Amino acid sequence: MSVGGWRGRFNGRSDPGDERYRIPVIGVRAVLFAIMAMKADLETNEATSEGQETVWDVVIVGGGPAGATAALYAARAGWRTLALDKGIGAGALGMATRITNYPGIAGTVPGMEVVERIRSQASGFGASFVSQRVTAAALSETSKTVYAGRDSYVARTVIVATGSMGRSQSIPGEAELTGRGVSYCATCDGFFFRDQDVAVVGNRDEAIEEALHVARFARRVWLLCPTSRPLASPDLIEQAEQSEVIHTRTGCNVRKIVGERSVEGVDVESGGKTETIPVTGAFLYLQGGQPILEFLGGQLALTDSGCLQVDAMLQTSVPGVFAAGDVLCKHVKQAVIAAAEGAQAAVAADRYLSGRASLKPDWS
Ligand SMILES: Cc1cc2nc3c(=O)[nH]c(=O)nc-3n(C[C@H](O)[C@H](O)[C@H](O)COP(=O)(O)OP(=O)(O)OC[C@H]3O[C@@H](n4cnc5c(N)ncnc54)[C@H](O)[C@@H]3O)c2cc1C
Repeated sequence: MSVGGWRGRFNGRSDPGDERYRIPVIGVRAVLFAIMAMKADLETNEATSEGQETVWDVVIVGGGPAGATAALYAARAGWRTLALDKGIGAGALGMATRITNYPGIAGTVPGMEVVERIRSQASGFGASFVSQRVTAAALSETSKTVYAGRDSYVARTVIVATGSMGRSQSIPGEAELTGRGVSYCATCDGFFFRDQDVAVVGNRDEAIEEALHVARFARRVWLLCPTSRPLASPDLIEQAEQSEVIHTRTGCNVRKIVGERSVEGVDVESGGKTETIPVTGAFLYLQGGQPILEFLGGQLALTDSGCLQVDAMLQTSVPGVFAAGDVLCKHVKQAVIAAAEGAQAAVAADRYLSGRASLKPDWS
């Protein structure tokens, strides 16, 4: 696939004679011609001449706040940067309808607008964005190729920033009402439910913690546990029991989330009976967010809980492959944190590409 829009400068740190750029060696004229062709290529971002494959310095999988910020930093550092994203509306921030807490953006804006602003800033520095779903990758220390359908992209470094919206939306009504009252993040959205009734669905630590958070704003929080008792740590259960706002129902299953344009209630089945509890928000923590990692085919080491293992520089178990954002399954899932990690991963990729292993303060 041809990728347009490259306006980046040639990076002084990349050697035009580097074999990674595959210049044919057939004498001085050929070399001069190849250098001119390569210069033109770098100015237009078109693939190098037939039979030669563009080698990207940084290929980012995912263009949410983590991926787009990584693109911004990598392109600004002068690297040939490509971000592949399957669809802005498929990411967590892309589907959030109201964002009020992204630093520097006052007022209430759709999450999509925040992503678009970061992407536009990254494009201004020469990053390319292509709308494609990455289906596979071949990752090793010496070579990295990312596959998107029939297209493939060769990269010197890869940043994984695919987020954690990998859980299938299994409750009827959930997919239609996500971002319209259905949420997976009380820290993000609890604020919008001041003096309203909401449901928090789940039985583990995360669900109870989030119920406690949303209880600061909501009038009433229905904590709906599918098991006969919450399977959370005793201190959290005790805090929930002491809250006057939280009402716990055990042994109940949410069968449907109801509402036309936004959440109006949840259908709950318990002991063979079904009733509708009127709520305007439904926070779901049934299986937790699941990092999107399938396309990696098990090539990167995972933690015990199935998350990518990274070091302090966000490098995965394969040198030159980094990860950022919600895909890392952090406790706090916020756009600003994902963006910060995108920046950090890009700085780490920069150091890897420059052969600088050590960490030094960088104020540029
Ligand atoms: C409903 C909701 C409301 C929220 N509200 C707030 C809020 O108010 N404030 C706040 O700070 N945070 C909020 N968050 C959390 C915030 O959106 C996330 O923490 C943040 O978006 C994580 O960024 P990310 O880039 O890691 O992942 P994402 O934003 O999920 O982006 C991942 C990107 O990767 C792409 N992708 C995934 N798989 C592939 C693939 N195979 N190939 C190509 N592309 C792929 C997706 O299309 C997506 O664009 C909210 C989240 C949700 C779900």
